[in-house]
Amino acid sequence: MAMELQGSCRCGAVTFGCRSHTPYPYQLCYCSICRKTAGGGGFAINMMADHQTLRVTGKKSLGVYRASLCDDNGGRCEMSGGERNFCTSCGSALWLYDPRWPELVHPFASAIDTDLPVPPRRTHLMLRYKANWVAPDVGPNDLQFDLYPEQSIEAWHRQHRLWID
Ligand SMILES: [Zn+2]
Repeated sequence: MAMELQGSCRCGAVTFGCRSHTPYPYQLCYCSICRKTAGGGGFAINMMADHQTLRVTGKKSLGVYRASLCDDNGGRCEMSGGERNFCTSCGSALWLYDPRWPELVHPFASAIDTDLPVPPRRTHLMLRYKANWVAPDVGPNDLQFDLYPEQSIEAWHRQHRLWID
């Protein structure tokens, strides 16, 4: 049975629940979008759950942010397909939904109220974009990537035998 995750914004206007086969918060993203919208410590932790299990109360308080992504030379920019849902009352980042992967939803670990399992090792990604003052806390078994890791969240959980049916 997949794990039930309960989440909320800080002010309580929005609460949500979803089920996840992959509840280990192991993936730390240092990109500027995650840092600025959900990562005061320099990164955000993105999780993964089944979109069809997502239940939301307080939908009228949801805002959606789509980031503009520019290439490294400051040239071409385009609108990200990812829809970052946040509370319009208190500003808490809640989850990312991308219509290109409609079966998934990516809650931010920071919005989850359920006790989560502690990952045995962590993956640090998008380090190319981290702020200069951020000193990643890299454990001896952690993995680090300039951009995206090779492994999906599902593959990581299966490799570590942490996938929950
Ligand atoms: Zn709120």
